[in-house]
Amino acid sequence: MNNLSHIPSYLSAEHLGPWETFLVQIDRVEPHLNPELRPLTPILTRPMRALIVNVPIRLDNGEMAHFEGYRVHHNLARGPGKGGIRYHPDVTLSEVMALSAWMTVKNAVVNVPFGGAKGGVRVDPRQLSLAELERLTRRYTSEIHILLGQDKDIPAPDINTNEQTMAWMMDTYSMNEGRTAMGVVTGKPISLGGSLGRKDATGRGVFVATVEAARRIGMNIADAKVAVQGFGNVGEAAARLFSDAGAKVVALQDSSGAIANPAGLDVRAVKAWRQQHGTLVGALGTEAITTDSFWSMDADILIVAAMENQITATNAGLIRARLICEGANGPTTPEADLILQERGITVIPDVLANAGGVTVSYFEWVQDISAFFWTEDEINARLDRIMREAFTAVWEAAKTKGITMRTAAFVLGCERVLLAHKVRGLYP
Ligand code: NAD
Repeated sequence: MNNLSHIPSYLSAEHLGPWETFLVQIDRVEPHLNPELRPLTPILTRPMRALIVNVPIRLDNGEMAHFEGYRVHHNLARGPGKGGIRYHPDVTLSEVMALSAWMTVKNAVVNVPFGGAKGGVRVDPRQLSLAELERLTRRYTSEIHILLGQDKDIPAPDINTNEQTMAWMMDTYSMNEGRTAMGVVTGKPISLGGSLGRKDATGRGVFVATVEAARRIGMNIADAKVAVQGFGNVGEAAARLFSDAGAKVVALQDSSGAIANPAGLDVRAVKAWRQQHGTLVGALGTEAITTDSFWSMDADILIVAAMENQITATNAGLIRARLICEGANGPTTPEADLILQERGITVIPDVLANAGGVTVSYFEWVQDISAFFWTEDEINARLDRIMREAFTAVWEAAKTKGITMRTAAFVLGCERVLLAHKVRGLYP
């Protein structure tokens, strides 16, 4: 019996979505787990709790609108829940469950004392005014209040949410509690107990992990050509750091289109263009390319920092990069994973590659709780050390056991979670 034989009644078995990806990953990892912990694996294939809420808001025109919201605690064996809040029209329970499960594994891979959680609202935020977005955020926060708390569940930004969203969440929670609760969310503005270095942390972690991998496969970053999918919080920071390190960023793709310059783009200029025009396309010194040309770009390194299910069985064969780094969560389907493995392409998996964000979120939480703030240099040095140590542990486990980095990262993360279950015992 494999883990896919357990499908909860509240998901559609025919359209299982991202949760299926997670279950397949657990199936692949299970045989490599410590035999003493393996019998506990089924606990990972069920989320601990999932809250579904209705989020009614008053629109600016006086009408009422309703949005579906979720907050899932996948596993809290190692600490309070931690994971972002996503605003996107395609958010589903399956997606939030998968994202919460990847947070469980990720937090354990970098060994921060958190469990896995995630939240989301099914909304296209571009259709709402700023005032409507604020009302949505405040109502959603109140609806999931019962799960939140600095020692229970600490949200952070994800796709289409940012430090302003986190400030509204922190304020709403604080108002409901009757006290100022700094540590209840991370990714806040600096003026509200946010951490220096948090904004770039995920992109920085992606960069550090890629440098570590490049060194080990004999690739020099300063000579490397890099293609980046996603030009938001993660992709933009990663592209900028590669460019600052001397690499050529030869292609960028986001939801507005794809652009290229084989001689290397000016990342900051493209960002300014995108801010001004709302699209990458047309930026000076770049040419528009098709999606297929993006995937088959002549690049040494591919950073995927947009959404799930971007590298699939259809395009995995087109990729020419020797090294792929997953800034996004779940960007590679299990079928594509096998193709990339066969083709000898090194994949730095999401649960390791994008853990820089939660690592600095952990620093932010520690600083808020202790009301003592660190310098940006201290934060970056600690982040770099944690990313390098986690990378080394995963790389060495992969080499020793002859498995992919994804399987090795899952083995490391899952064993830490299952060990916590083993020593805590089963209640009651
Ligand atoms: P963001 O909203 O800031 O940026 C998302 C980017 O992806 C945008 O450039 C958007 O145009 C692009 N995009 C969306 N759909 C696309 C598509 N179909 N094709 C091409 N591009 C598309 O979000 P973000 O915070 O940068 O998050 C990106 C990914 O990184 C997500 O998977 C998120 O879960 C993951 N992640 C983010 C953080 C963080 O700290 N923000 C931490 C860990 C993981």
